[in-house]
Amino acid sequence: MRAPSPDHATPPHALAYVLQRHDATRLHYDLRLEWRGVMKSWAVTLGPSLDPADRRLAIAVEDHPLAWNAFEGVIPAGEYGAGTVQIYDRGTWVPDAPDRVDADLAAGKLGFTLHGARLRGGFALVRMPPREEDRRQESWLLIKKNDAWARPGAGDAALADPTSVVSGRTLAAIAADAPPRRRRAQGGGGDGSAAAHGPGRVIWPVSDGRPALTRGDLLRYIEAYADRLLRHIARRPLTMLRAPGGIDGHVFLQRHAMKGMPAVIREIDLTDDTCEPYVYIEGVAGLLALVRLHVVEFHPWGATVDALNTPDRLTFDLDPDAGLDFGRVVSAAGELKQRLEAAGLAPFLKSTGGKGLHVVVPLDARAPGAAGWPAAKAFARNLCATMAADSPDRYTLTLAKKARGGRIFLDYLRNDRTASAIAPWSPRARAGAPVAVPLAWSALDAGLRPGGRPLASLLDAPVLPDSWAGFEAAAVRLPDLKPA
Ligand code: MN
Repeated sequence: MRAPSPDHATPPHALAYVLQRHDATRLHYDLRLEWRGVMKSWAVTLGPSLDPADRRLAIAVEDHPLAWNAFEGVIPAGEYGAGTVQIYDRGTWVPDAPDRVDADLAAGKLGFTLHGARLRGGFALVRMPPREEDRRQESWLLIKKNDAWARPGAGDAALADPTSVVSGRTLAAIAADAPPRRRRAQGGGGDGSAAAHGPGRVIWPVSDGRPALTRGDLLRYIEAYADRLLRHIARRPLTMLRAPGGIDGHVFLQRHAMKGMPAVIREIDLTDDTCEPYVYIEGVAGLLALVRLHVVEFHPWGATVDALNTPDRLTFDLDPDAGLDFGRVVSAAGELKQRLEAAGLAPFLKSTGGKGLHVVVPLDARAPGAAGWPAAKAFARNLCATMAADSPDRYTLTLAKKARGGRIFLDYLRNDRTASAIAPWSPRARAGAPVAVPLAWSALDAGLRPGGRPLASLLDAPVLPDSWAGFEAAAVRLPDLKPA
């Protein structure tokens, strides 16, 4: 195995790393490492130390979207993480064992090398056993490895610079530069906190000719489409994207229960892979409670809480390289459909509301001998690998954006136990308020555009017909993998 090399200028897989200095209730440093399309995050109370003798407490916090890496500014009072954020360091990171990151995270021991402007070299994150009195807090230790970048006796040497690595500003300068808080209430006065949580609060600002949409608009949409959405999210663990300050504010992903949640938001303990309970809902009351907690996006698991180890859907994510013509994604979806049908499965098409398409396959999780996650993942990987082998100039199975080279990433990685995918009918926290929508296969033609449906177009209009009406009825048992 290749030893981690701090001097390696261009890591083979460029995964983003950022260290944000965060002057919140307490000053701390948010260490974020890109993994599977999100930033895994730890709040490091004292910041990373360069002294291998130091063990710095690192509390696991919610995953953040990649876009958050560029945030430097002020999170307004009353919002999660209120305070000033400074980009203290950034660059890339390389796991010691790139093929084992999921297993290492689950096992609570991740070794990696940072290639930042200020922090470099090998580190280890080691999870401590959960404490009975607070099982919701996952505590890790961040430890510098003994290498050329270690500074015994001078652990804080890399934290001495008070300025942003991006803007050169101090925390005080960033706070002073922050624009005065936007006025968020529409019509009527009210105090700041009422405005922040009231129905007039803007979630999606005006964008490209599309109107601003408020919490009230979101609630009206959710009420109209609750049955549609619940069909795909009820009784499934959820990853939720929360946007308490609207989509231009502090946006973060949440998979775990939080203190003070109403009882209609259920918890499920999965003690085998994490010490924190996951969240699911049963019906409309839970759905509305989540929206009141500023959830904008719903990403369910491919299994229900009744049979978490047996997937009842497969999701294939067709993720095009930047700038790739959407027609290529359209033809990829058509090819995938043919291959799935040839395997005896019934694929369905979904616009993600982003730049890609999902192809989703219902599975009969109750069939005798129904496949578990390892078999489902192997099936999905095998199918995608065959497609990529047949058209290596069009498709890749490589996650790294750099390696895509004008190709479509066939993302089969959503077919795993704790993985999730955007739900049909879920709004997206993106400019213009798109909604991920089920599509009929007849919509797959040269005229199809990415981006789902604008939420505004679904308000005050008859509820759209459901292109996936036969989804559950089409579920079959996953065929066995033929030996290669
Ligand atoms: Mn923080």
